[in-house]
Amino acid sequence: MNPDTEQQDLAEPYLGGLLASLGLDVHYSRAEKDTLFFREETGREVPVLDFVGGYGSTILGHSNPEIVGYAKELLDQGVPVHAQFSKHPYANELAQKINAVIRREFATTESYSAIFANSGAEAVEIAMKHAEFDRVARLTELAGEIDGNIERARAAVAAGAGVDGSGSYGRLATASGVSFGAAMEEVIAAVRAANAPRLAAAPVFLAPEGSFHGKLVGSVQLTHNAGFRSPFSALAAQCRFVPVHEPDALAKTIESVRRTVFDLAVDDGAVRVVEREVPAVAAFVLEPVQGEAGIRVFDRRTAEHVRRTCEAAGIPIVVDEVQSGMGRTGAFFAASHVGLQGDYFTLAKSLGGGVAKAAVTLVRASRYRREFELVHSSTFAKDAFSTSVAIRTVELLEADGGRAYQLAAERGSRLADMLRKLQQEFGTVVKEVRGKGLMLGLEFHDQSDSSSEVIAEQARAGLLGYLLSGYLLRVHALRVLPTASAVNTLRLEPSVHLTNAEIARLEAGLRGLLTVLRDQDGAALLQA
Ligand code: PMP
Repeated sequence: MNPDTEQQDLAEPYLGGLLASLGLDVHYSRAEKDTLFFREETGREVPVLDFVGGYGSTILGHSNPEIVGYAKELLDQGVPVHAQFSKHPYANELAQKINAVIRREFATTESYSAIFANSGAEAVEIAMKHAEFDRVARLTELAGEIDGNIERARAAVAAGAGVDGSGSYGRLATASGVSFGAAMEEVIAAVRAANAPRLAAAPVFLAPEGSFHGKLVGSVQLTHNAGFRSPFSALAAQCRFVPVHEPDALAKTIESVRRTVFDLAVDDGAVRVVEREVPAVAAFVLEPVQGEAGIRVFDRRTAEHVRRTCEAAGIPIVVDEVQSGMGRTGAFFAASHVGLQGDYFTLAKSLGGGVAKAAVTLVRASRYRREFELVHSSTFAKDAFSTSVAIRTVELLEADGGRAYQLAAERGSRLADMLRKLQQEFGTVVKEVRGKGLMLGLEFHDQSDSSSEVIAEQARAGLLGYLLSGYLLRVHALRVLPTASAVNTLRLEPSVHLTNAEIARLEAGLRGLLTVLRDQDGAALLQA
C-alpha cells in the first residue's frame, strides 16, 4: 500500500472531520442494553448512556443476550445465509407472525403479503415500486378499455352514427387542435395523441410535510428536507408535501394533480368524447409518528381524514413504521393507536433485533400484485440469518402477552414525565416535549438570537443540536442526538430496559445542559 494514503482517512473523511469538530468522534467498542462503551487512551473503558438507540434500531437493547445467543446458534449450525431462489419457510413464518399482529391491532381479517429488504429506505422503495406497478397495471387496463371503445365508435360511425361535438369535444380540440366536425379517423388520432403523454406521465407521491422516508434515489424524494432531497430531484418521481393538519389541504393537492384521458362513448346513435380519470397519484406515504421531523405524533382525527380522502380518491396509503414500529410506541404498530390500517406497512430498524439488517414491506391482499415477486429481489433480502433473527425479535416482543409493549408505554411515560418537569423548570429554553412511548422529542426554543456568540452562530448554522450533543457526551457521558430534519429537537429512543436510575442520570445531564443554555453560557458548551 502506498505509505502516503495509508495514513489518510478514506472512509467518509469529511463526516469524520465534522464529528471531530463537534466532539462526537468517539469509537464505541462494546454495547449492552442502553450503554455504549469506548476506551480511553489509557485503556480504561468508559460507559456512555445511549438514548439514540441505534436511531430506533434497539428496542430490545444493544447486544440483547437472547438475540445474540440465537444468532450464534444459527451461525454455529451453519445456517445457509445465501440460498436465494430456493424455499424460505422462515420467511413465511415471519410474515405469519406479523400478520397475526396486524389482525389483532387493526381488528382485520385481511392478510398482507411480505416482500423482504435490507434497510428502511429499501422497504419504502419496495412500497413505492409496488404502488407504481399497480398504477401502471391500472393504466394499461384503462388504455385497453379505451382501445376497445375506439373500435366500437369506429364501427358505429361506419354504421351511420355521427360524432357529437358536445361533452369533452371542446377540451379535446383545445388539447390536440382537432377541429369541430372532423372526420372520425382524425378524432381518433386526436384522442390517441392527447392521451399518450397523459398515460405516460410520471406518477406523483404524496406525503405530509416534514416526512422522512430514507435517502435512496426514490425514497429521498419523499423526504421533505430539501438539503437531502433537492440535488437528486431529477432522478425520481416527485412528491407533493401536504400540510395535512389544514382541513382541505389534502383534497386540494389531489385536485391539483388530477389528470384525465379522452375516451369515446357510443350512445343514442352518436359518438361522444368523454373523459376518464387517470390514477395520477401512486401512493400517500406517512409516518404515524414522524421521527426525523422532530418526533411528531399523528392524531386520530388527521389519520381518519387522510384515510377517508385517500379512499375516496382510490389512493393507497403506505404506513412507514420503520422507526415508529416494533413496539416502540407501546403497540407493535404506532398506526394502531389511531386506527390507521395501511394498504402497505414498512418495517426495518428494530426488526433485526439490533443485530441483523432486516426489513420488510407488507402489502394488503386486495392491492397485491403477485407478479411483483418476479420483478423485485435483492441478494441479501429474506436470508435465513436476518429473517430468523427477526422472527426471534417479534417473538420476544410478543412474549408474556406483549409485556414489551407495556414496558415501552410505561418507561416512556416515566421518561416523558421527567422531560415535562424539566420543561416547567426551564420554560425559557425548552419549547415542547412530544412523542409516544419510547419515541420522544425535546424541542428547544430557537437560539439564533442568543446573547452568546457561540450559541447564536451554531444555531444559525443548524448545528446547535449537535453542539449540545457534544456537550452531553463529553461532560455527562450521555449519547443524545437531534432528529435529522429538525435539529432543535433532541430524540430519545432508548430500549424497554431503561431503568429509573438511567432516567435520573439523563435528568441530571439535561439539567446541566439547560442551565448552560438558560445562562447563555456558550463557553461551557465548548468545555473539554
Ligand atoms: N423511514 C423512516 C420513517 C425512517 O425514520 C428511516 C430512517 N431514519 C427510514 C425510512 C430509512 O431507513 P434506513 O436508514 O434503514 O434506510
